Amino acid sequence: MPKVNTKKVSWEEVESWSRIVSDKILESGWRPDVIIAISRGGYVPARLICDRLVVGELVSLQVSHWPSAAQIAKEAGVKYPLECDLNHKRALIVDDIADTGESIIIAKDHIWTKCKPDELRVATLQWISTSSKIKPDYYAEEVKEWVWYQYPWTRLEDIIGFFKRIVSEEKENESWDLETLAGRFPEWFGVTFDRWYYERALSYLVSTGFFVKEGDMYRRVSK
Ligand code: AMP
Repeated sequence: MPKVNTKKVSWEEVESWSRIVSDKILESGWRPDVIIAISRGGYVPARLICDRLVVGELVSLQVSHWPSAAQIAKEAGVKYPLECDLNHKRALIVDDIADTGESIIIAKDHIWTKCKPDELRVATLQWISTSSKIKPDYYAEEVKEWVWYQYPWTRLEDIIGFFKRIVSEEKENESWDLETLAGRFPEWFGVTFDRWYYERALSYLVSTGFFVKEGDMYRRVSK
């Protein structure tokens, strides 16, 4: 068993889950006039669901909650408040996953208060029913055992977070080369990625001062 239960999501799965959600909405007989993507995780699914339901209006709302892969922030909040009037409209909030459900709760509250739609429903690709405080009206998959969904739209960001996590927890190793670090992925996350991502993640971590590059080795700068 890897230390962090991780599922590497493919674009095909995203496509299939977006169709499942769209089909469920169609089958329910309800139609949204406008879709609100929770940024940033809801962007891609919201755009796909817009297309599959032929909805022309797409708004987005940034709710910050998870600062880096698999590590939760202390406080969630709306980054840029919405100033839109959704009176006489049926609105659908779309996010990738309901995990704690906090982002959706915050988004719902914000949209009800600021935009006053006639109706407001929620759709996600995944609903972690054992941890979420809210059940989406529509979802493609119910998840009972917590998993970090490594969606294609957070691939590099997650790998950067994964590197930081490995290096921060395996303190006895001060300097790493790419192969050793990447070689930890199966044990830590149960998945691996293209070398391109590892290289990009390492150069990003050098640019932020997390690592210093010495030849082929990356030395962690202690903070
Ligand atoms: P939540 O805890 O439901 O407020 O999640 C907020 C956002 O964090 C989600 O929309 C995702 O973008 C991200 N997130 C939270 N939990 C997970 C998870 N288990 N897998 C992947 N992304 C997640």
